[in-house]
Amino acid sequence: MRKFNFCAGPAALPEPVLQQAQEELLDWQGLGCSVMEVSHRSPEFTAVAEQAEQDLRDLLSIPDNYKVLFLQGGATGQFSAIPWNLFGAGSKQADYIHTGQWAEKAIKEARRYGEVNIVASSEDRNFSYAPAADSWEEGAGAAYFHYTPNETIGGVEFPYIPDVKSPLVADMSSTILSQPIPVEKFGFIYAGAQKNIGPSGIAVGIVREDLLDRALPEIPRSLSWKIAADGGSMDNTPPTFAWYLSGLVFKWLKAQGGVEAMAKVSVEKSQLLYDFLDRSDFYSSPVAVESRSRMNVPFVLADDSLDKQFLKESEEAGLLALKGHRSVGGMRASLYNAVPLEAVEALVAFMADFEQRHG
Ligand SMILES: *Cc1c(COP(=O)(O)O)cnc(C)c1O
Repeated sequence: MRKFNFCAGPAALPEPVLQQAQEELLDWQGLGCSVMEVSHRSPEFTAVAEQAEQDLRDLLSIPDNYKVLFLQGGATGQFSAIPWNLFGAGSKQADYIHTGQWAEKAIKEARRYGEVNIVASSEDRNFSYAPAADSWEEGAGAAYFHYTPNETIGGVEFPYIPDVKSPLVADMSSTILSQPIPVEKFGFIYAGAQKNIGPSGIAVGIVREDLLDRALPEIPRSLSWKIAADGGSMDNTPPTFAWYLSGLVFKWLKAQGGVEAMAKVSVEKSQLLYDFLDRSDFYSSPVAVESRSRMNVPFVLADDSLDKQFLKESEEAGLLALKGHRSVGGMRASLYNAVPLEAVEALVAFMADFEQRHG
């Protein structure tokens, strides 16, 4: 039996997608073998790759002057790829907003190749909010400006898009495809697939074409956006199964009404849980109201000696993976696109019952 899965990543996938993959696993498209067992250059797989790109372009209304890349090495690989690809046109300085653990990893990696200017940080309040738009200033002559629109661990989401002069770079790993985005405001968008796209092993990059000639000359070829763009993301063998499954998720998203529909339901789902947390003295949210994430909802019990019991009982009730990140403790419910409203209803009902029995 399928349970309600709140895992932060690798995360829940839409059940119809898994069913389709199961049905056609042994004999894909009548070829007598699985999609994992054909050449990535075969006409059948090429069609899958191209369709996935087109569907993603449709879903996010990606303008023609942007390349869509299917990359390896995860979002973490892009922490390195970003400075390598953008520090070769004169400036080796970049602006970063520091909002928590993922931003910090990106910053640490960029510091190995150039100068990082932390334009804003929410460290003063334990990374529980997104710095306000008027609280910081861009550095002069930065090669790019990086931020993390949704901090997956802290559950902090920016309620605005930074308006900056240098190319805006965004780690959308845990928020991509959860709402419409004005792609034209960004220079480079990237996301590891395993939160809101598909299985792990693939990452999506969306890059404005004019940024493809700014790489450092010694860039490792596996990190080069230009080589990926010129070779259709097939400079080496891509993770074909992850690409195929991501394509099925894109089709499923289109059938659900696209990112507009996802935006609406993501507000409904997260609001249901936040309203419940705010009414309770037993549970609370550590995140500032205006920066609360629609995708990742951390919460704590007033009496943390009950944490173990909460996790044990929730798991028995068919609610999976509610344990908070090891670095922050408490609980976290991730509410990505594939997590239905019924899952959040079941979670809130369980939490109310748990409070009644232990409060
Ligand atoms: C999960 C996550 C990452 C890391 O992704 P990998 O694919 O494991 O490298 C980076 N940034 C954010 C915001 C994430 O949620």
